[in-house]
This record gives sequence, structure tokens and C-alpha cells, in this order.
Amino acid sequence: MDLTELTPRSLVEGLRRRLKKSLGQNFLLDEIITRTIAREVESFRPLHILEIGPGAGALSLALCSLHHPITVVEKDDHCADYLGQVFAQQPDFHVIHGDALSVDLPDFCMNAEDRTVLAANLPYNVASQIYFRFIDADMPLLGMVLMFQREVADRFLAKPSTSQYGILSVIGQYYHDIERVIDVPPECFFPAPKITSTVIRFTPRRRELSPEREPAFRKLVHAAFSLRRKTLANSLAGFAQLDKAAWIQRLTDLGFAPTVRAESLQIADFIKILNSLD
Ligand code: SAM
Repeated sequence: MDLTELTPRSLVEGLRRRLKKSLGQNFLLDEIITRTIAREVESFRPLHILEIGPGAGALSLALCSLHHPITVVEKDDHCADYLGQVFAQQPDFHVIHGDALSVDLPDFCMNAEDRTVLAANLPYNVASQIYFRFIDADMPLLGMVLMFQREVADRFLAKPSTSQYGILSVIGQYYHDIERVIDVPPECFFPAPKITSTVIRFTPRRRELSPEREPAFRKLVHAAFSLRRKTLANSLAGFAQLDKAAWIQRLTDLGFAPTVRAESLQIADFIKILNSLD
């Protein structure tokens, strides 16, 4: 198929009667958005692109214009078949039919020298899980350009002492520099979802902790935000075998107010607390 004749709209038309709501299939129709995502991907200067949840291929089409090898991972049988046909003539375009949460990912995701960038517009319930799959496996990606429900994107981007600041902000900003790329209104999709989406860009940052210490950091952050309206000493009571009084003492010794709350702590503060447990 000649890709120059395709548009997001014509691609979606080909799958229109096979839409699966259960897989969160809201397909992009807007070329400004697909090109914006492709431009962000290209700004990392990748050698490989991994796209998760390609659907009818609107974003894949924009990514093809970058002329890098592309591998797409799609769970839905019809979409996977359709993409195989539409992009059959495209050199170095590979379709993996499977669930991106569990399928074996290509070797090029595991090697920094393969300079892989991940792009995805996924169902909202899957997007954060995919992010954490890559973090947990410590895959050395050059970067990621991902679309989330706007409220979730706002949590990734939030600064301390705001209502959105929480686990996603601290853990996300520990691993990545995170930037908002563009908000995407419902009318850019077929069918139109009820919510606004946001594309964000993740660039790996230098991590202060060794990989062995990171699980403890994440546990601390989860515990700290477990009782959002309470003080940190209350939330952490029982964590690391310290009771509330011991936590008040420790936090005071570290220079924090005894009534400090998790939402006012910077990443460096969480690291300081973690290091005091050694
Ligand atoms: N990226 C396309 C676009 O922007 O038009 C499609 C977006 S649609 C919101 C999400 C796509 O992810 C659907 O094609 C759906 O079948 C696929 N999907 C859902 N869960 C998935 C999973 N766990 N692994 C791989 N693909 C998945």
C-alpha cells in the first residue's frame, strides 16, 4: 500500500466496524497530533522506535516518515492483522501481536546502543502500567513520548505542595525529566472519549541511587503518601520498624518540622530520609 495516500482518517475508516471498547480503542484522527508526537520522537535521534498500542496505525504512519526501523506491539487481533497488511511494503516495520504488559519485548529495548524511543497512545488504564514495566525492567531507552489522560499527566508533572503531587510525581521525576508536549481534546479521536488527553515526554535523568536501593526508595514514597491527609510521621508509622514517635525524632534530626507532610517533600528529601535508614 502506498503510504503517501493514507491519512489517519482513512486508516481508522478501515477498522471502524471492528472497534473494541474493552481495549480502549479511541483512534487518533488528527495529523497535527501524530506529527507532533513523531517530531518529539525524532528529537531524541533514535535508531529504533517501539510503538505500543498502534490501533489503526495513525501514529505509526507519522512515525514511518522518520525512516527508522519500527516495531509495534498490538493486543487486538484485528488491528494486528490490519497493520500487517497496511504496512506490508514498509521496510523494517514489524508487528508483534501480544499484550504489551507481558509479551517479550525486542532485544533492541535492552541495549542502550540501539537508541530506542518508545511512543504510545494507550488506553488510560494501561498507560501507567506500561511506564512502570519499562522502569521496573530498567530498560535503557533514550526516551519516551506517551499520551495519558490529562489528570494523570498532571500528576506526573506536579510540583511539591500542589494537590496533584504524589507517588507518580516523585517516582516519575526521579527517573525522568518530564515535559508537557501538547493537550489533545476529545474531537481529535474516533470515537471521541469523554476526557482530554496530554502527550508528555520523558527523558532519562541521572539517578542518585544505585539500582539496588531504588525498590526501597519506591516503598518509602508509597508509604509516605499512603495517608495523604496525615503528617509524614503518621503515614510512616511502622515503616522500617519505626513507630510514630521514632519517626518524629528522626524527621526532626534530619531538619524537617515534626508535622511535615509527604506532599511538601522534594525528591532529594525522600532520598535523605532513605539514606538515614542505612
Ligand atoms: N495508537 C493508536 C492511535 O493513536 O490512534 C491507537 C490508540 S487506542 C487509545 C489504544 C490501542 O492500544 C488500541 O489499538 C488497543 O487495542 C491497544 N491496546 C490496549 N491494551 C493493550 C495492551 N495491553 N498491549 C498492547 N496493545 C494494547
